[in-house]
Amino acid sequence: MKLHEYQSKQLFSQHGIPIPRGRVAMTASEARSIAEELGGRAVIKAQVLVGGRGKAGGIRLADSPEEAEELATQVLGMRIKGLPVRKVLVDEAAEIQTEIYLAVTNDRAARLPVLIASTAGGVEIEEVARRDPGKLSRVWVDPFLGLREYQARNLAASMELPRQLWSEFAHIAGGLFKTFLGTDATLAEINPLVITKASHLLALDGKIVLDDNALFRHPELAEWRDVDEEAPAEREARKYGLSYVKLDGDIGCMVNGAGLAMATMDVIKSLGGEPANFLDVGGGAPAEKVAAALQIILSDPNVRSVMLNIFGGITRCDEVARGILIALEGVKREVPMVIRLVGTNELEGRQILAEADLPTAATLSEAAELAIAASRVRAVR
Ligand code: GDP
Ligand code: MN
Repeated sequence: MKLHEYQSKQLFSQHGIPIPRGRVAMTASEARSIAEELGGRAVIKAQVLVGGRGKAGGIRLADSPEEAEELATQVLGMRIKGLPVRKVLVDEAAEIQTEIYLAVTNDRAARLPVLIASTAGGVEIEEVARRDPGKLSRVWVDPFLGLREYQARNLAASMELPRQLWSEFAHIAGGLFKTFLGTDATLAEINPLVITKASHLLALDGKIVLDDNALFRHPELAEWRDVDEEAPAEREARKYGLSYVKLDGDIGCMVNGAGLAMATMDVIKSLGGEPANFLDVGGGAPAEKVAAALQIILSDPNVRSVMLNIFGGITRCDEVARGILIALEGVKREVPMVIRLVGTNELEGRQILAEADLPTAATLSEAAELAIAASRVRAVR
């Protein structure tokens, strides 16, 4: 579960991290009065659960309460990456000297939390990692010992942070680590953490992703869930217990098993296609679940073909095939589909699908090739 910027900053503040003064507004006139309280200059920030709001025009600087009202009107009418903006954060505008990146996440390979920092902050960190990996500094933290002062200082030194900021930085890094651990987060990120013109550190943006499996330990945080702001497809997927992640490609994927889903996406990519999503329908996969999964995949307008890759182990392929047919009854079949069905009773399963005029494939690569070809045919039309 993702938290909004204003929620993340509230948690940061509880852990001693300095944040700008400010409050959330639901209307433009509220934004105006908050700007007045802040002394006129304010930054208006769209509260949506996606990154890159700045680039999308969702972060605007106002010089006066009147301008704050005007900009809030614009931002509150926006959609960012498909999500409607219903709230804005009105913060005291900061005078920025340098933007820093600071985050805590889990390093699965090291089996430890890792603190990542960079003086190339502000922009997307994946971009920095790709272009200039030397600009990232890391320190691994033993969760039972917590972040030690010397570790934070080592990080500050390797980032070449001015020495007079080291103790402020150590305090913020310690607070961020405690926030991460205390909320059972999988990510706690400040981007940017800025050096102000007055040479202090200030957390201007905040992002926290909580581990859904640990949410039961944090009922007060679970209440912060903002269903209005979640992508509708992801909301639907959660309802049916499906793991769905939307991606940018055009080949919809429905697979049983997370590992097989990953392998399927790899094969599609290696053959020159781009998956539109990750979707694991899980084991057993009753018709109702398959139908919901198909609806979710087809709700993405980028999808030009769909590939189903189902391995029938305990569930028999003929059952799966009947499930697919039942699932397809309520679904418009405008988008071509390719089904790869292997495992117990696969011949019977394929027979059932063939009788219903559904193309099947014997191997994973054959299925991927057919799905890619089908997506291109539609793209040309
Ligand atoms: P994001 O685009 O969703 O990551 O939103 P951010 O909160 O990180 O804001 C994007 C960028 O807007 C930051 O990197 C800053 O450059 C700029 N920005 C945000 N708040 C302020 C502010 O108070 N003053 C100034 N001058 N710029 C700001
Ligand atoms: Mn940011």
